[in-house]
Amino acid sequence: MSTPQNMPDMNQRTELKALHIPAPLQGFDAGDAQVFDLVLAGGLVESIAPSTQREARGIVLSAFVEAHAHLDKNYTVRDVGAAKGDLFAAIERMSRHRAGWTHADLHQRMTRALHDAWRSGTRALRTHLDWIDTTPPLSLEVFKQLREEWRGRVELQCVALVPLDVFADHAAGERIARDVRDAGGVLGAFVYRNDDLEHKLSRVFDLAQQHGLALDFHVDEGLDADATGLRSIAQLVLERGFAQRVVCGHACSLSMQDDAAANDTLALCAKAQIHIVALPTTNLYLQGAWHRTPLERGITRVREAAAAGVQTSFATDNVQDAFYPYGNYDLLESFALGVQVAHLPDALDWLGAITVHPATAMGLAWDGRIAPGCPADLVVLTAADEYDLMSPRGRQRSVFRAGQLLE
Ligand SMILES: [Zn+2]
Repeated sequence: MSTPQNMPDMNQRTELKALHIPAPLQGFDAGDAQVFDLVLAGGLVESIAPSTQREARGIVLSAFVEAHAHLDKNYTVRDVGAAKGDLFAAIERMSRHRAGWTHADLHQRMTRALHDAWRSGTRALRTHLDWIDTTPPLSLEVFKQLREEWRGRVELQCVALVPLDVFADHAAGERIARDVRDAGGVLGAFVYRNDDLEHKLSRVFDLAQQHGLALDFHVDEGLDADATGLRSIAQLVLERGFAQRVVCGHACSLSMQDDAAANDTLALCAKAQIHIVALPTTNLYLQGAWHRTPLERGITRVREAAAAGVQTSFATDNVQDAFYPYGNYDLLESFALGVQVAHLPDALDWLGAITVHPATAMGLAWDGRIAPGCPADLVVLTAADEYDLMSPRGRQRSVFRAGQLLE
């Protein structure tokens, strides 16, 4: 569906003066320059030149890429209640609620999320859809409709979120993989200390290879040190020379393993080119103690992953459901929390985690590096440096899509 927003006015030229472009987003040779003037024209960035002004007025980023959301579950917390740290209670509550979902209800909730993401400056979003057995979920039909409705505004991808144990049934796995392929989706599974884990994961890889599917797992989302699904996935990628993209979300248990074991797994992930997604909001809420102050926290080893050469993203995960009762689809808020939880100075150096890295992991046409000729899909922040970026006021922004300011 065409909308006014995705038809750029070819005659409009916009000048953006005196902006800093963080190093991970620079797709051109900046030399010694720190502050730039950009001209937007014809829906693209026409030129970038060092500014005559020495002080930056703000920071310009490429529009955000959300690598991990759950559009089917959001805004249900008022019905189901919050699970306060019990992941498996949340799964149970959501599965009871899911039985009552209708097309209209899903469409309304998913649309609300997309408006929030769009206004916040998100240009692409990957959502997991609960896919509990061989029947494709109702949410898939709604997703396909929304994928068309939002084309040109928010590019949408879906992942089948299947309990890993379902793949023990050969025929069930086959049906799911075929439906995922037909929907243009990504195959996924929820992996946590399952019995016979290697065998079931191996089956997921068989299906992905047969049907040419990329993979995206919920893996090791808890603080049991013996949750080592991430390591098994990396080993399978390497053993098979698996060629499609593999994304692993959560990997919280990595923080509970000793340094040698965790770094060994991360070295395998680097070799396998696995992309890790950290979900700070939901995992701070779900992991760690609830009967007292939480001392252990649910965050994967973001710094060690980067040091090992593993690309990492931050993403939003759940919004206002049993898993996480708070939050919204402003990816910059998840990023800011991640910076504080994982201790990531200079925050500007990590902005690839909501732009370039997820764009690469999702195989988008534009990797989000800003350069002459790139799409003028940009977010201009009022913050001019790291310190202002970490305050809510600094995260106020102007969103440009195809060179035009969103009102
Ligand atoms: Zn998730």
